[in-house]
Amino acid sequence: MSAAQRPSNDPLINQWMPFTANRQFHDQPRIIARAEGVYYYNTQGEKLLDGSSGLYCIPLGHGRREIREAVSRQMEVLDYAPPFQYGFPPGFQLATEVAELTPPGLNRIMFAGSGSEAVDSALKVALQYHRVRGEGARQRFVGRERGYHGVNFGGWSVGGMVNNRKAFGLGLPGALHMRHTHIKENYFEMGQGTHGADLADDLERFVNLHGADTIAACIVEPVAGSTGILPPPKGYLQRLREICTKHGILLIFDEVITGFGRTGQAFASQTFGVTPDIITMAKAITNGSIPMSAIAVREDIQQTILDAAPPNAVEFYHGYTYSAHPVACAAGLATLKIYREENTFGRVRELTPGFLEQIASFKGDPEVVDTRGFGLLGAVELAPKGKPGERGFKFLCKAFEEGLVLRCSGDSVVLAPPFAATPDQISEMIDIVRKLIRQGY
Ligand code: PMP
Repeated sequence: MSAAQRPSNDPLINQWMPFTANRQFHDQPRIIARAEGVYYYNTQGEKLLDGSSGLYCIPLGHGRREIREAVSRQMEVLDYAPPFQYGFPPGFQLATEVAELTPPGLNRIMFAGSGSEAVDSALKVALQYHRVRGEGARQRFVGRERGYHGVNFGGWSVGGMVNNRKAFGLGLPGALHMRHTHIKENYFEMGQGTHGADLADDLERFVNLHGADTIAACIVEPVAGSTGILPPPKGYLQRLREICTKHGILLIFDEVITGFGRTGQAFASQTFGVTPDIITMAKAITNGSIPMSAIAVREDIQQTILDAAPPNAVEFYHGYTYSAHPVACAAGLATLKIYREENTFGRVRELTPGFLEQIASFKGDPEVVDTRGFGLLGAVELAPKGKPGERGFKFLCKAFEEGLVLRCSGDSVVLAPPFAATPDQISEMIDIVRKLIRQGY
């Protein structure tokens, strides 16, 4: 039935759903009515395991009382105040606590409302930083094929997932893309692949072709998430760091998924031992409860912008109505307190080996073409059936019927269990995936 043929009182018709095949959804809706802990409940009250921590954003599980209470208290004390020219305590406090988690030096925290906003904020910091130093010709950004950096103009321009780009034309001029790191030699290797560090030399090739003095920043996800979990080959991020340092290019790690523990440390930068110049983060900063994101910027980058002499002395003309929203900050503070008090990231380190072993156990299944994983992020890539992505999508629909909410990227089935899940609950997720593969989904 076409949208036009649907009655205007169809309860589903008016919400234009994001990243969703809308017509298909109207015919076969997957409605989530409620959530608690690591479970959702559908409209019939049946349980569904949350196999993807929401959208990688709710690692502590749903409905944490401490977060709910902090949000409600903040609503009573200060529900909103303008973040431009005025400040409020929760913003300063959360910035300080985030800075305690970021790598040394990345202590200047600016908040925004979503991962996409954080990415565009980071790209703009890079542009202004170079400009005030008299290097305003550095306007190119380097991203990567299969990268995902959100849907705002900077983010999709540097992103490399074709479906997110092709309908929208040219995007930012001067965006360049390195090759992705999903190479045959590394198939079925769990953790970091041994091959492919040299793919970072694509950045050096761009320097040779365009001149370092035209490149502002290189942005990558330390583990590419939305494209179906691509851990970086060993040495790859180090190599990128070296090339950026050598040529004065800022390195931005987009840690919107990996930030706050997903790889066993607060940030993947620490797990991989590579410090970028700017980190973007979102999602788990409030355990998904209230939209919020942030960038962590090297102190001297901020200082350079603040110290700029005329005509560049304009501070950073950037921000959002909801930057550092007090209620989101309260949710963030309550979330970070739980991470500290429950040693949440330590728990991730404990759960990771068992989880990755189970992901790896799909090796040898004739229906599986690759398995990948790092931290509590795992992907089982299925042999395509029909058009690319068709099998993955059918799999997601069937998994919902079987009581599991997961992500599919193309034909890769992705699991990102909440850190609050027990080993048994993680095994249950894996068992459902295995059963469906056996049934030919
Ligand atoms: N960057 C990365 C690495 C992401 O994974 C995402 C979201 N999945 C974003 C940016 C965009 O975040 P948002 O959807 O909150 O705008």
